Amino acid sequence: MSEDCLFCKIIDGKIPSTEVYRDDDVFAFEDINPAAPTHILVIPTKHLKDIKAANKEDRDLLGKILLTANQISNERGLAHDGFRYVINTGKHGGQTVYHLHLHILGGRSLNWPPG
Ligand code: 5GP
Ligand code: ZN
Repeated sequence: MSEDCLFCKIIDGKIPSTEVYRDDDVFAFEDINPAAPTHILVIPTKHLKDIKAANKEDRDLLGKILLTANQISNERGLAHDGFRYVINTGKHGGQTVYHLHLHILGGRSLNWPPG
């Protein structure tokens, strides 16, 4: 828990969100400003500021984030046509919230390369 972190506050319920999945390690919720018909954020309940902050002890946690994303993608019917997972990192990566999060984007054809 980081006192001044938006996503820690969302995990704690201090800021409301539309919950998609929760367990002790992982939380998933609808992005407030969806960039695609399905746009869900999957985050660790542990505060890690970005993917670079993860280390060996977080190996299972990182795997769980990806597998949770797969479960949600399946439940949302994205598996057939595909989807994209994104982890924006740092200034050049376009990260705006410094609590590690994986974006699930799906429900339309996505452009590549990104802007
Ligand atoms: P980033 O740009 O850091 O990769 O992504 C941050 C994401 O968090 C953005 O897609 C943004 O719409 C989402 N976001 C920012 N503030 C809130 C909020 O208060 N609630 C929810 N549900 N999503 C948020
Ligand atoms: Zn946090």
